[in-house]
Amino acid sequence: MSEINLNTCAENTWCPGCGNFAILTAFKAVLKSLAEEGVPIENIVLVSGIGCHGKIVDYINGVYGLTTGQCTPTSPQGYKGRSTPKGSLEYPLNPLEMMLSCGATYLARGTSHGMPLLKQLFKEAILHKGFALIDVLQVCFVYYNMYEYYAKRVYELKDYDMADFSAAHNKIREWDYNQDGKIALGTFYKTTKESFDEYFKIKHERMDRGLKISQILNRDMQ
Ligand code: SF4
Repeated sequence: MSEINLNTCAENTWCPGCGNFAILTAFKAVLKSLAEEGVPIENIVLVSGIGCHGKIVDYINGVYGLTTGQCTPTSPQGYKGRSTPKGSLEYPLNPLEMMLSCGATYLARGTSHGMPLLKQLFKEAILHKGFALIDVLQVCFVYYNMYEYYAKRVYELKDYDMADFSAAHNKIREWDYNQDGKIALGTFYKTTKESFDEYFKIKHERMDRGLKISQILNRDMQ
Protein backbone atom coordinates (compact mmCIF):
# COMPACT_ATOMS: atom_id res chain seq x y z
CA MET A 1 0.00 0.00 0.00
CA SER A 2 1.13 3.58 -0.54
CA GLU A 3 2.38 5.43 2.50
CA ILE A 4 -0.21 7.63 4.16
CA ASN A 5 0.49 11.34 4.31
CA LEU A 6 -0.23 12.85 7.72
CA ASN A 7 1.40 16.19 7.06
CA THR A 8 -0.45 19.47 6.71
CA CYS A 9 0.28 22.80 5.09
CA ALA A 10 -0.89 24.63 8.26
CA GLU A 11 1.84 26.59 10.01
CA ASN A 12 3.00 25.09 13.29
CA THR A 13 3.23 27.78 15.95
CA TRP A 14 4.37 25.69 18.92
CA CYS A 15 7.28 26.96 20.98
CA PRO A 16 10.61 25.15 20.47
CA GLY A 17 10.85 22.33 23.00
CA CYS A 18 7.08 22.06 23.54
CA GLY A 19 5.90 18.58 24.59
CA ASN A 20 3.36 18.73 21.79
CA PHE A 21 5.99 17.74 19.25
CA ALA A 22 6.57 14.40 20.95
CA ILE A 23 2.84 13.71 21.25
CA LEU A 24 2.27 14.49 17.58
CA THR A 25 5.22 12.35 16.50
CA ALA A 26 3.98 9.42 18.60
CA PHE A 27 0.46 9.79 17.26
CA LYS A 28 1.57 9.90 13.63
CA ALA A 29 3.78 6.84 14.14
CA VAL A 30 0.85 4.92 15.59
CA LEU A 31 -1.47 5.88 12.74
CA LYS A 32 1.13 4.78 10.20
CA SER A 33 1.65 1.49 11.96
CA LEU A 34 -2.11 0.88 12.14
CA ALA A 35 -2.44 1.65 8.42
CA GLU A 36 0.35 -0.84 7.66
CA GLU A 37 -1.49 -3.46 9.69
CA GLY A 38 -4.61 -2.93 7.58
CA VAL A 39 -6.70 -0.75 9.90
CA PRO A 40 -8.75 1.56 7.63
CA ILE A 41 -7.30 4.96 8.44
CA GLU A 42 -10.46 6.67 7.16
CA ASN A 43 -12.29 5.16 10.14
CA ILE A 44 -10.23 7.27 12.54
CA VAL A 45 -11.53 10.76 13.26
CA LEU A 46 -9.37 13.25 15.14
CA VAL A 47 -11.22 15.87 17.17
CA SER A 48 -9.53 18.45 19.37
CA GLY A 49 -10.16 21.67 21.24
CA ILE A 50 -8.53 25.03 20.64
CA GLY A 51 -5.20 26.55 21.61
CA CYS A 52 -1.78 24.92 21.52
CA HIS A 53 -3.21 21.44 21.85
CA GLY A 54 -5.99 22.20 19.35
CA LYS A 55 -3.71 20.91 16.58
CA ILE A 56 -3.47 17.43 18.06
CA VAL A 57 -5.24 15.15 20.49
CA ASP A 58 -6.19 16.43 23.91
CA TYR A 59 -3.85 16.25 26.89
CA ILE A 60 -3.29 17.76 30.31
CA ASN A 61 -0.48 20.14 31.18
CA GLY A 62 -1.95 22.14 34.05
CA VAL A 63 -1.86 25.47 32.23
CA TYR A 64 -3.55 27.32 29.38
CA GLY A 65 -0.52 28.06 27.21
CA LEU A 66 -2.21 29.78 24.27
CA THR A 67 -3.74 32.41 26.52
CA THR A 68 -0.38 32.88 28.25
CA GLY A 69 -0.60 30.93 31.45
CA GLN A 70 -4.02 30.81 33.07
CA CYS A 71 -5.13 28.33 35.70
CA THR A 72 -6.84 25.15 34.43
CA PRO A 73 -9.00 22.45 36.06
CA THR A 74 -5.85 20.35 36.58
CA SER A 75 -3.63 23.13 37.97
CA PRO A 76 -2.68 22.52 41.60
CA GLN A 77 -4.08 24.63 44.42
CA GLY A 78 -2.02 27.78 44.80
CA TYR A 79 -1.04 27.89 41.11
CA LYS A 80 -0.06 31.46 40.25
CA GLY A 81 -0.86 32.57 36.72
CA ARG A 82 -2.41 35.52 34.96
CA SER A 83 -5.92 34.65 36.07
CA THR A 84 -4.85 33.70 39.60
CA PRO A 85 -1.98 36.07 40.58
CA LYS A 86 -2.49 35.31 44.27
CA GLY A 87 -2.72 31.58 43.76
CA SER A 88 -5.70 29.45 42.75
CA LEU A 89 -8.10 28.36 45.48
CA GLU A 90 -9.69 25.42 43.71
CA TYR A 91 -8.71 21.81 44.13
CA PRO A 92 -7.75 20.16 40.80
CA LEU A 93 -9.76 17.51 39.02
CA ASN A 94 -8.41 14.01 38.63
CA PRO A 95 -9.55 13.28 35.05
CA LEU A 96 -8.81 9.56 35.28
CA GLU A 97 -10.85 9.15 38.45
CA MET A 98 -13.69 11.10 36.89
CA MET A 99 -13.72 8.94 33.78
CA LEU A 100 -13.44 5.72 35.79
CA SER A 101 -16.61 6.67 37.65
CA CYS A 102 -18.30 7.61 34.36
CA GLY A 103 -17.81 4.12 32.97
CA ALA A 104 -14.78 4.48 30.67
CA THR A 105 -13.39 1.07 29.80
CA TYR A 106 -9.78 2.02 29.05
CA LEU A 107 -7.76 4.45 31.18
CA ALA A 108 -4.06 5.15 30.93
CA ARG A 109 -1.41 7.77 31.53
CA GLY A 110 1.74 8.68 29.61
CA THR A 111 4.04 11.68 29.32
CA SER A 112 5.31 13.73 26.43
CA HIS A 113 8.83 12.59 27.40
CA GLY A 114 8.15 8.88 27.22
CA MET A 115 7.69 8.17 23.53
CA PRO A 116 7.73 4.32 23.49
CA LEU A 117 5.06 4.08 26.18
CA LEU A 118 3.04 6.86 24.58
CA LYS A 119 2.98 5.03 21.25
CA GLN A 120 1.92 1.81 22.96
CA LEU A 121 -0.90 3.57 24.82
CA PHE A 122 -2.14 5.44 21.74
CA LYS A 123 -2.32 2.20 19.81
CA GLU A 124 -4.10 0.31 22.58
CA ALA A 125 -6.60 3.13 23.04
CA ILE A 126 -7.41 3.44 19.34
CA LEU A 127 -7.94 -0.30 19.01
CA HIS A 128 -9.94 -0.51 22.23
CA LYS A 129 -13.65 -1.04 21.73
CA GLY A 130 -15.30 1.46 24.02
CA PHE A 131 -14.50 4.80 25.61
CA ALA A 132 -10.77 5.23 26.20
CA LEU A 133 -8.95 8.10 27.88
CA ILE A 134 -5.21 8.64 28.01
CA ASP A 135 -4.00 11.32 30.36
CA VAL A 136 -0.86 12.67 28.66
CA LEU A 137 1.23 14.80 30.97
CA GLN A 138 2.56 17.30 28.48
CA VAL A 139 5.20 19.81 29.42
CA CYS A 140 4.61 23.46 28.55
CA PHE A 141 8.14 24.81 28.61
CA VAL A 142 7.07 28.43 28.58
CA TYR A 143 4.31 28.79 31.18
CA TYR A 144 4.52 25.74 33.40
CA ASN A 145 7.63 23.68 33.02
CA MET A 146 7.00 20.46 34.96
CA TYR A 147 9.72 18.46 33.23
CA GLU A 148 11.94 17.98 36.30
CA TYR A 149 8.94 17.43 38.58
CA TYR A 150 7.55 14.63 36.43
CA ALA A 151 10.96 13.11 35.71
CA LYS A 152 11.59 12.59 39.44
CA ARG A 153 8.21 11.05 40.22
CA VAL A 154 7.02 8.92 37.31
CA TYR A 155 7.24 5.14 37.27
CA GLU A 156 5.70 2.47 35.06
CA LEU A 157 3.07 0.05 36.31
CA LYS A 158 4.31 -3.53 36.53
CA ASP A 159 2.66 -6.79 37.68
CA TYR A 160 -0.62 -5.02 37.82
CA ASP A 161 -4.12 -6.40 37.10
CA MET A 162 -5.66 -3.83 34.78
CA ALA A 163 -9.04 -5.63 34.85
CA ASP A 164 -9.43 -4.93 38.57
CA PHE A 165 -11.66 -1.90 39.09
CA SER A 166 -10.71 -1.39 42.76
CA ALA A 167 -7.00 -1.65 42.02
CA ALA A 168 -7.44 0.89 39.23
CA HIS A 169 -9.30 3.22 41.55
CA ASN A 170 -6.57 3.04 44.19
CA LYS A 171 -3.76 3.45 41.70
CA ILE A 172 -5.45 6.36 39.95
CA ARG A 173 -5.84 8.12 43.31
CA GLU A 174 -2.20 7.62 44.21
CA TRP A 175 -1.45 11.03 42.72
CA ASP A 176 -4.20 13.65 42.94
CA TYR A 177 -2.60 16.32 40.71
CA ASN A 178 -2.17 18.46 43.82
CA GLN A 179 -0.11 16.88 46.58
CA ASP A 180 3.34 15.57 45.97
CA GLY A 181 3.50 11.86 45.25
CA LYS A 182 4.57 9.10 42.91
CA ILE A 183 3.02 9.30 39.45
CA ALA A 184 2.11 5.99 37.84
CA LEU A 185 2.31 5.59 34.06
CA GLY A 186 0.76 2.87 31.92
CA THR A 187 -2.66 1.29 31.64
CA PHE A 188 -4.72 1.58 34.83
CA TYR A 189 -7.91 -0.05 33.67
CA LYS A 190 -9.04 -2.11 30.74
CA THR A 191 -12.24 -4.05 30.45
CA THR A 192 -14.82 -4.97 27.87
CA LYS A 193 -18.46 -4.08 27.84
CA GLU A 194 -21.07 -4.12 25.14
CA SER A 195 -20.66 -1.03 23.03
CA PHE A 196 -23.69 1.18 22.40
CA ASP A 197 -24.27 -0.20 18.91
CA GLU A 198 -23.98 -3.81 20.12
CA TYR A 199 -26.36 -3.16 22.98
CA PHE A 200 -28.80 -1.40 20.67
CA LYS A 201 -28.73 -4.34 18.26
CA ILE A 202 -29.29 -6.92 20.98
CA LYS A 203 -32.12 -4.92 22.48
CA HIS A 204 -33.90 -4.47 19.20
CA GLU A 205 -32.95 -7.53 17.25
CA ARG A 206 -36.43 -9.00 17.42
CA MET A 207 -38.16 -5.73 16.90
CA ASP A 208 -40.14 -5.53 13.69
CA ARG A 209 -39.19 -2.08 12.54
CA GLY A 210 -42.01 -1.79 10.01
CA LEU A 211 -44.58 -2.83 12.57
CA LYS A 212 -43.31 -0.31 15.07
CA ILE A 213 -43.42 2.52 12.55
CA SER A 214 -46.99 1.72 11.53
CA GLN A 215 -47.99 1.58 15.21
CA ILE A 216 -46.55 5.04 15.76
CA LEU A 217 -48.22 6.41 12.63
CA ASN A 218 -51.59 4.92 13.57
CA ARG A 219 -51.32 6.30 17.09
CA ASP A 220 -50.51 9.80 15.77
CA MET A 221 -53.48 9.74 13.38
CA GLN A 222 -55.99 8.80 16.08
S1 SF4 B 1 2.75 27.90 25.17
FE1 SF4 B 1 3.37 25.98 26.15
S2 SF4 B 1 1.90 24.44 25.37
FE2 SF4 B 1 1.78 26.24 24.03
S3 SF4 B 1 3.21 25.81 22.33
FE3 SF4 B 1 4.35 26.99 23.87
S4 SF4 B 1 5.35 25.43 25.18
FE4 SF4 B 1 3.71 24.41 24.03
